[in-house]
Amino acid sequence: NALHNRTVPLPDGTLLPSIGQGTWKMGEHPDKKADEIKALQIGLDLGMNVIDTAEMYGDGQSERVIGEALHQRRDEAFLVSKVYPHNAGSGNIRTACENSLRRLRTDYLDMYLLHWRGFSGSLEDTVEGLEALREEGKISRWGVSNFDTPDMKELLEIKNGSHCATNQVLYHLGSRGIDYDLRPWHREQQMPMMAYSPLGQGGSLISQLTNNLTIKEIAEKHEAKPLQIALAWTIRTNDVIAIPKGTSPTHVIENAEAATIELSAADLEKIDEVFPKPEQKMPLDII
Ligand code: NDP
Repeated sequence: NALHNRTVPLPDGTLLPSIGQGTWKMGEHPDKKADEIKALQIGLDLGMNVIDTAEMYGDGQSERVIGEALHQRRDEAFLVSKVYPHNAGSGNIRTACENSLRRLRTDYLDMYLLHWRGFSGSLEDTVEGLEALREEGKISRWGVSNFDTPDMKELLEIKNGSHCATNQVLYHLGSRGIDYDLRPWHREQQMPMMAYSPLGQGGSLISQLTNNLTIKEIAEKHEAKPLQIALAWTIRTNDVIAIPKGTSPTHVIENAEAATIELSAADLEKIDEVFPKPEQKMPLDII
């Protein structure tokens, strides 16, 4: 399958396919649950085994949908969940993690992320809590989300902060501020990133792309859709894992197929002309 050839190494050497699956908004409508389960299973069949969720999504319902989708298939998936900042103190984090595990019907997470920085406690305390969970085997590794460059630098200064395996941030063609400093910093550290909302949440980015002659031309050349070009662009350097969310089987298949698109240097130059690189520091875009 296409994704076998497009992998991203984690700091511990684990290779992950560069396109995974997001699940925000899954589990919010009972009548959509069967479709969501099916979509996740199709994605898994196609090799998109990184499945991203959070205790926040649908107040735990997204994790429950995944738990059902992974019935007897847990070992095939690389499960990522996230803890709310207000649960991320060393006192609460174990309970939050155990609740996620129960909803996901598993006894370990492959990755546990601090959802965003928040103000409720010290980063030291959170890292201590994450490390304790890792030592107990409840999580295999941990990372952060929505951290800008100064936050990452601060994290690496504290005890065991360097065990951080990834930083999950907003990244798509319409929002590429991190190309200025955060992404180069991650490259230097050899710490991969995860790109959330890589399709711009399916909103105005689609019309921006389909109305753009350059993107249309590149898409036609690759016999692909403009949105697939956008997805292929996010994973172009083999150090970013994109996690598009799809409920329609067509979308899921298109997203997996985007991993087969190899954008040439000329394609990338043309893309830079219509969606320019940032020329100065931009504050991290957050949803
Ligand atoms: P995405 O950018 O993944 O867009 C999802 C939307 O795009 C859905 O409406 C989906 O429709 C549609 N879509 C999917 N594939 C296609 C396609 N091939 N063609 C056309 N439309 C398509 O948005 P998300 O915000 O969901 O981001 C992805 C994931 O990132 C989240 O689900 C979540 O796991 C994570 N995330 C993390 C955040 C954080 O703070 N760490 C914040 C936001 C997201 P349909 O469902 O109908 O198929």
